[in-house]
Amino acid sequence: MKIQTAEFVTSVGLGSRLPVAHVPQIAFVGRSNVGKSTLINALAHRKIARAGGAPGTTRLLNVYRLQLAKHRGALLLIDLPGYGYARGGEAANHGFDRLTRRYFQPDPHETPDRPGRTAPAGAILLVDARHPGLATDCDAVAWLSELRLPMVVAATKVDRLKASARRAALKAHELALGRTVLPISAKLGDGLPAFWTALLELAGL
Ligand code: GDP
Repeated sequence: MKIQTAEFVTSVGLGSRLPVAHVPQIAFVGRSNVGKSTLINALAHRKIARAGGAPGTTRLLNVYRLQLAKHRGALLLIDLPGYGYARGGEAANHGFDRLTRRYFQPDPHETPDRPGRTAPAGAILLVDARHPGLATDCDAVAWLSELRLPMVVAATKVDRLKASARRAALKAHELALGRTVLPISAKLGDGLPAFWTALLELAGL
């Protein structure tokens, strides 16, 4: 996919609001270290997200904007804090931190026309190809399904597996999550064309 411009827009903490944007938002969700930042950089064709940070240290929601090839529109990628390193009282919330839950389940008094929030068009859930069936990933699918948010699941880092192991892992992921799982490697580019197709469909572009 041709990208005209790609940029980091802002980081948002619990106390602040998302910028208002009139382009579709896609939320990126997954365990810490699953390869979210690396994938965002691969989609953008440049380094806009900080990859390889210490697991669990990013407790902010990072917003990136991609301007696609001419006439294809624009897209906001919302990079949510990685889960799986829940601390304190977070364990009872499927490992999702307050920021993530607030993003998906805004204050019921907040109406869509009030500034500060546009609902996501869909979510991308990333799972590590090498670790099928993790309880936290199954919880994430269940939670996002409950929200009735359109979702695409992709298994990252498939380059770490040989072809036969790759197929077996994919089957195991699909069985555990009860959904189609797209195999991708942000490092080598495997599966990214199919991933882009799914992403654009999710965004309604
Ligand atoms: P995040 O915490 O989800 O943002 O994960 P990062 O993007 O920082 O990636 C975590 C680690 O996995 C880094 O060391 C990356 O280099 C590595 N990684 C990410 N994507 C891939 C991939 O497609 N293949 C391989 N082999 N390693 C990857």
